Amino acid sequence: MNIIDGKKISNIYLEQLKSKIKHNKLSLAVIQVGDDLASSIYIKQKENMAKELKIDFKHLKFKESIDEKELLEVITKLNKSDITGILVQLPIPDHYDILTIQNAIDSKKDVDGFHFLNVNKLINNKKSLIPCTAKGIITLLKYYNISLESKNVVVIGRSNIVGRPISDILLNENATVTICHSKTKKLRLFTRKADILIVAAGQKHLIKSNMVKKGVVIIDVGITKFENKLYGDVDFEKIKRKAKLITPVPGGVGPMTVYSLFENLHEAYLLQKSNEVVE
Ligand code: NAD
Repeated sequence: MNIIDGKKISNIYLEQLKSKIKHNKLSLAVIQVGDDLASSIYIKQKENMAKELKIDFKHLKFKESIDEKELLEVITKLNKSDITGILVQLPIPDHYDILTIQNAIDSKKDVDGFHFLNVNKLINNKKSLIPCTAKGIITLLKYYNISLESKNVVVIGRSNIVGRPISDILLNENATVTICHSKTKKLRLFTRKADILIVAAGQKHLIKSNMVKKGVVIIDVGITKFENKLYGDVDFEKIKRKAKLITPVPGGVGPMTVYSLFENLHEAYLLQKSNEVVE
């Protein structure tokens, strides 16, 4: 079967994580600003997984009118508290400076991996807290023993959330990485060369069957809602027989992203513990 079942694989890892953390007291704070419907759904998914892992979960919800200074004060308090992990659910309204908010979180509690210290470590191939979607993708590829060294990997999308971190991880794994984006011309010339194609553009069915070679491994990150149905960036039905492995949308990368957050939470816990010993 060449269709990757992200739900099944995330459950396998979840069971392993359960036993790893059973004697640890982990806690997660999720900050939400505004009322974005998709954000509320993603937070619920995180809350459900936290419940399953018996992790203390705090959902701190604020109106869009909260000013940046107040929000930073909330983060400072959480940094000083015994909470293990903190994240600010994206997107946040435009009037906040997203980098200021993300860098205010203690880098050892930064379970989304967006703090500049964590980004810097990733770029320099040092152990760090890694953005969850990128981490989920690499876990999937490793689950299937897909070797990355010297492979032609094409990543579509250059966001700080997906495209850039997954490209850094792949470079660290010695893949040959090509990053395409909205200004790339003749996308097909790049995608047809891909041994592994990772698409995170958020454009329904951007990738057609004639844009990939036979035997390609495809990781479809994109999610577009159209007439109440979810679509990926890949024309799944037309491509699936051509691919060696392919993720569906939904049910592919999504569950791995949620799972990876809790793997990061455990890593954050260990990081904080090792610091206590040193200090
Ligand atoms: P983003 O909008 O920040 O970035 C999209 C990127 O795609 C940009 O770099 C842009 O240049 C590129 N792009 C857009 N149109 C393109 C085109 N026609 N050709 C080539 N490149 C193009 O989005 P993001 O946060 O990186 O998320 C991307 C998609 O992945 C979205 O649909 C999002 O909902 C989804 N997503 C899914 C998960 C998950 O867990 N499944 C997690 C994060 C994001």
